[in-house]
Amino acid sequence: MTETTANTLSEQTREGLSTRCVHAGDTRDLRGAIHPPLYGNATFAFESTADLLDLVEGRTQGNLYTRTGSNPTIRSLERKLADLEDAETALAFGSGMAAEAATFLAHVHAGDHIVCLGDVFGGTYGLLRDNLSQLGITTTFLTADELDKLPEVLTERVRIVFFETPTNPTLDVLDIAAIAAQAHAVGALVVVDSTFATPVNLNPLHHGADLVIHSATKYLGGHSDLIAGAVAGRAELLAPIGGWRGNLGQTIAPQVAYLLSRSLRSLVVRVRAQNATADAVARFLAEHPRVTRVNHPSLATGDQAALVKTQMRGHGGMLSFLVDGDATTTAAVVDRLRIFSIAPSLGGAESLVTQPITTTHHGLEPAERARRGITDNMVRLSIGLEDADDLINDLAHALDRPQPGP
Ligand SMILES: *Cc1c(COP(=O)(O)O)cnc(C)c1O
Repeated sequence: MTETTANTLSEQTREGLSTRCVHAGDTRDLRGAIHPPLYGNATFAFESTADLLDLVEGRTQGNLYTRTGSNPTIRSLERKLADLEDAETALAFGSGMAAEAATFLAHVHAGDHIVCLGDVFGGTYGLLRDNLSQLGITTTFLTADELDKLPEVLTERVRIVFFETPTNPTLDVLDIAAIAAQAHAVGALVVVDSTFATPVNLNPLHHGADLVIHSATKYLGGHSDLIAGAVAGRAELLAPIGGWRGNLGQTIAPQVAYLLSRSLRSLVVRVRAQNATADAVARFLAEHPRVTRVNHPSLATGDQAALVKTQMRGHGGMLSFLVDGDATTTAAVVDRLRIFSIAPSLGGAESLVTQPITTTHHGLEPAERARRGITDNMVRLSIGLEDADDLINDLAHALDRPQPGP
């Protein structure tokens, strides 16, 4: 018994995102399972040597060996991921870092150059600075305030321009179309890490990006119970990435692919709820006397506000704010929170809080943190699925407690 014909509504007409989250990539098996079953096996058997050769030599399609992604559970997830990003195809990985590493290794070679814009995830920074540099791949880092220097650093050695939007943890929104126009002029690919935005709030490929990457560990998984990653884009760009994935052994496990497909069915309702709660929390914090700054796309002004409007469909569940005080006072505020758990990561059902200097950006030198505006009094929130009022009360309590005297 194997999978039968595709029962995919979305192949005929383009439905809304919620419908596609539920149905895209689904095939119904002969027993009528309501969604694709989990094929947890490593390998697949053939009736004859001739059948095996037909598959290996590309005359038929089928399943062969799970490490290469040739597994129905993984392929079903990848069809859903591609559909949600409006991409020709997608590849699923064992982590977001695995997806990034394979993308860089496939498209940037020794002697080539990467340009990395704005704040990026700590692991990305380490991969570019410490690991890829050992292979003769160098990276120029520009902060979000230095984008006017992009023309100077865009030599024809640059193969990839990489960035997140909104960025972590300062929540700057970068103009994908403007950056893509400059990058494409020198033949570089534009790779956007869209982990914070999710396909609910943004489709980077619509704005000129060539590849979109997700740490599916975050919103796509949505329950802090799996580690996974994804890359989506044109098949011709994904093919070499798939080659690296297979040979480095970075493919997502079928069990995790199954769990991730499960989570993606509720992506839209989860992220829209998180968007609304984060907007309310941002408004509350912006008015609080002990908060000197709030970073959230809902509070953008001027050019940033115009860009948020044209590029994003929602503001996202991530925000950061500055406490009127030093690292110790800020830690005390964090420690008084009761509903927010102190933890790195983001995008789950439970709200999380972290001081970036203690976790995500702990590895950055103090001077580099200062250049990026990641100050000791910064707190980052990942808004979960709790009631907005409860989260606001928790923050009010943590901020309002009188400070201990000297
Ligand atoms: C977490 C994260 C990553 C890395 O993903 P993993 O799944 O932990 O490997 C990359 N980019 C961003 C923006 C992240 O938040």
